[in-house]
Amino acid sequence: MTATPAIPDSANAEQGDRSGFPDVLLIDDSSFIHSLLEKKLGHEPINLHGARSAAEGLEMAERIRPALILLDLTMPEIDGFQALRRIKDTPGLMDSQVIVISSSDDTEDKVAGLELGACDYVTKPFNMPELRARMRSALRMHEVLALLAERAQVDGLTGIGNRSSFDDRLAEELSHRERAGAPLTVAMCDIDFFKKVNDTFGHAAGDEVIRGFARIFTQSLRKSDIPFRFGGEEFAILLRDTSAEQAAPVLERVRQTIEQTRWPAHPEHMVTCSFGLCDQPAGDPKKPLSWIKTADEALYAAKKAGRNRIFVADSKGQHSALKLAS
Ligand code: GH3
Ligand code: MG
Ligand code: MG
Repeated sequence: MTATPAIPDSANAEQGDRSGFPDVLLIDDSSFIHSLLEKKLGHEPINLHGARSAAEGLEMAERIRPALILLDLTMPEIDGFQALRRIKDTPGLMDSQVIVISSSDDTEDKVAGLELGACDYVTKPFNMPELRARMRSALRMHEVLALLAERAQVDGLTGIGNRSSFDDRLAEELSHRERAGAPLTVAMCDIDFFKKVNDTFGHAAGDEVIRGFARIFTQSLRKSDIPFRFGGEEFAILLRDTSAEQAAPVLERVRQTIEQTRWPAHPEHMVTCSFGLCDQPAGDPKKPLSWIKTADEALYAAKKAGRNRIFVADSKGQHSALKLAS
């Protein structure tokens, strides 16, 4: 039986170009094991890193976020089981696959390792073809899981981030804002009278408009301004290091582009949208929901004032129409 390696061709590894190869971290206190595996895995299409204690390994793992960790059980101070628990409890690390490598052939150790979240258990002394095959299998699993995680964050209709991706990113941006003291603007955008597009021109034409909005956002915004499909015909945009005052003219240009777009399925029927902007939520600024609620209230005010316009929220929860300096 031949298995197709999910990892890049080993020919490249022999030529010394290892960029793009998955990172594998060996955590073992034995220098002998390090030199053995460095030699025996030299031709594998991987980037092999080494740590000689669990503490050093955990620190390296947080930095490198390896696809695979080869983890020794018997080590001084922090042993392999404790290290495994920490790996599986650390958000950025829990996706790393772990193969326990141990000279213990005890069923109890094997069961404990697998129960703690290791994907495999290989005994020392190594049977190298078996270890290589198990490593490849673990790396394939890592690749599949990474692909699934990525797909779970993408909106199927538009290809931009979905609500779950927005929630994750907003939490990250709020910590960046806290740490760096940098401004952040959350913009909510809702298509005006979208129901009418569906009712008059059909659902497929409606879908085309939603896709078009995502395309316009992606093309007209800076790389650091990230659009998401918040749900239905509503979008959210995160503008990093940007105050509402700076974001407003940028989004005004986007509003104009949308207004001027001629839609192939209904060239005579223009589609507009309303925006609500927030760079200082009315509630606790550490809570993502405060931002969403404040931006949503500004959006609602824009709708109420006649649609096809931008409203900006201030810290007191008041909303005002966008005033552009002329
Ligand atoms: P308003 O200006 O107040 O926002 O009016 P509206 O018609 O845009 O708002 P309403 O909430 O009444 O209608 C939104 C419509 O969006 C209803 C729903 O069927 C449609 N919609 C939501 N998701 C999709 C989608 O993925 N594709 C299509 N074609 N329509 C969608
Ligand atoms: Mg050891
Ligand atoms: Mg709408």
